[in-house]
Amino acid sequence: MALIGDSTDKAKQLLQAGKLVSIPTETVYGLAGNALNQKAVLSIFKAKNRPAFDPLIVHTHHINEIAHFAQLPSKWINELADAFWPGPLTLLLLKKKIIPDLVTSGLDTVAVRIPNHPLTLSLLKQLDFPLAAPSANPFGYVSPTNAQHVQDQLNDQVDYILDGGACGVGIESTIISLIEASPKILRLGGLSLENIEAVIGKVAVASHSSSSPAAPGMLKSHYAPKKSIVKIDEVNMKDFEDFSEIGAVVFQHTRKEIPKQNQIVLSPTGDVDAAAKEFFAAFRNLDERPEIKSIWVENAPNHGLGRAINDRIKRATAK
Ligand code: AMP
Ligand code: MG
Repeated sequence: MALIGDSTDKAKQLLQAGKLVSIPTETVYGLAGNALNQKAVLSIFKAKNRPAFDPLIVHTHHINEIAHFAQLPSKWINELADAFWPGPLTLLLLKKKIIPDLVTSGLDTVAVRIPNHPLTLSLLKQLDFPLAAPSANPFGYVSPTNAQHVQDQLNDQVDYILDGGACGVGIESTIISLIEASPKILRLGGLSLENIEAVIGKVAVASHSSSSPAAPGMLKSHYAPKKSIVKIDEVNMKDFEDFSEIGAVVFQHTRKEIPKQNQIVLSPTGDVDAAAKEFFAAFRNLDERPEIKSIWVENAPNHGLGRAINDRIKRATAK
């Protein structure tokens, strides 16, 4: 079983030796390896059982580092970096040769982020290479938001879990492509559309794609628990008499039909940020309870991080 601890020294030594370390970030826990070491990157894909067509995000601690592995021509990057880095924003840039093709699934673009977590920033500063890190969960499953989640699922697939507490944002980064003439959101996430538009004006949001390598990270079916999951809105309550095996993830208020102890309220005060923080852990909780056979889920209000929550719900319930 992988050791959990808070030693950046130990994490550094393992990463320098080409091993994998799970790192805390404000979004979700990552499964990190040396982004410039092909073997380490290959072991990330293996550990997660992640298909090779789904590229990884490269993490660093300072914008000056990015010039080593990506081109920084876009006029948008400085504005976005100043406003939101370190933070839950990933930017898609043109890659340089030093980044192995494996990291980017053969694409000529690389996704880059400066995460906002003190332990991970300190670790990144001590390394002379960037870290490739997707979320530290088996491919397709809900993302981990604390160290225990990582240990429960990846146990000996990871060499060390750097424990930085529960993730403050709780949902994956927002991905913006800066490849075309104007910025485009490829994935809604932990940085809200409203905050982005306040800085750079109106931004297009890409629609989902099933498995096209031209639009990776947008897989239609993803982030799903193991049990069957449906949207509450699509259920006809009248079709059911017995709700004892139904679990529910609701936004603010419980549903009167379903036993109270089977329901997880994401935010009793109706706050979308608080709801995002609890979101993935709620699915894990219900997934682990043997008496619950099916999970029903309710959309969040469609503003702020509620949009990212609804995007994850859409994909978790997609066939
Ligand atoms: P994860 O960290 O597991 O949420 O995965 C990161 C996401 O970023 C993936 O789903 C990728 O598809 C997306 N991503 C990484 N690199 C690229 C790229 N070059 N082009 C488009 N999307 C990317
Ligand atoms: Mg992921």
